[in-house]
Amino acid sequence: MKCPQCKQQVDEGAKFCSACGAEIIERATDFAWIAGIQEEIKDCRSNETAFGIICGIGILILAVPLVGWLLFPVAFDTAALAWAIPLGLAIAIAGGITGQHYHNKIKKLTQKLKGREMVGPQ
Ligand SMILES: [Zn+2]
Repeated sequence: MKCPQCKQQVDEGAKFCSACGAEIIERATDFAWIAGIQEEIKDCRSNETAFGIICGIGILILAVPLVGWLLFPVAFDTAALAWAIPLGLAIAIAGGITGQHYHNKIKKLTQKLKGREMVGPQ
């Protein structure tokens, strides 16, 4: 087997590379690790979608009464705006920030996965 860091031949079952000192992770562990990261990315993706939808609902809560009021200022109950605007804004911001958090997490996990894949087959 080869060291993932320096590609030197190392003893089977060795924990560290004798040439560069890098930690040797066996393929089975590697596969489990990759599968774990992929699972995590999948979870983050569904969370990102869910919070994206929440953000969209917030924008709707904010926009619908606002547009209604702009179109029919006389017929519209302005009291509805008083709660719809802060409520919609809060939901949109909270959903947006949380969605962004998961978006960044996906990016980081993808990079982590790419970094490992670059090591290639041993
Ligand atoms: Zn090495």
